[in-house]
Amino acid sequence: PPDVEALGRSSWTLLHSIAATYPETPSRTQQSDLLSFVDLFSKLYPCWVCADDFQSYIKREAPSVSSRDDFGKWLCGAHNDVNVKLGKPIFDCSKWQERWRTGWRD
Ligand code: FAD
Repeated sequence: PPDVEALGRSSWTLLHSIAATYPETPSRTQQSDLLSFVDLFSKLYPCWVCADDFQSYIKREAPSVSSRDDFGKWLCGAHNDVNVKLGKPIFDCSKWQERWRTGWRD
């Protein structure tokens, strides 16, 4: 079975990077493609407990795909749900673009 931690880190990198490059004003097709991707990802994710919980999350909190920032914040919330479950710190979702798109400024 895959290493759940390494798989998780690389998967979050993929997902947040998809959010970072998603259009600010997506077309209907881009929105429905992203919804399909998230749905299929949640079914195919190769950590079964993770996949089950992620699917329940999607049922509770429907993915927001209407803009880059909406999707990035939704994804940040989904990641925080896992952080809480694992006892990891909550990430401040107002900073998702700094972490995953524009880079930290200091
Ligand atoms: P990660 O949680 O992998 O985070 C990587 C980096 O993302 C962090 O260093 C931080 O810079 C940034 N980050 C953290 N939180 C956020 C946020 N909310 N928004 C944006 N950026 C953030 N593991 C399990 O043991 N059980 C599970 O049920 C489980 N479910 C998962 C479900 C999914 C869909 C995914 C993708 C992963 C899941 N994992 C699960 C793996 C787990 O979330 C972590 O990836 C893994 O434990 C490694 O954690 P980490 O501390 O290296 O940081």
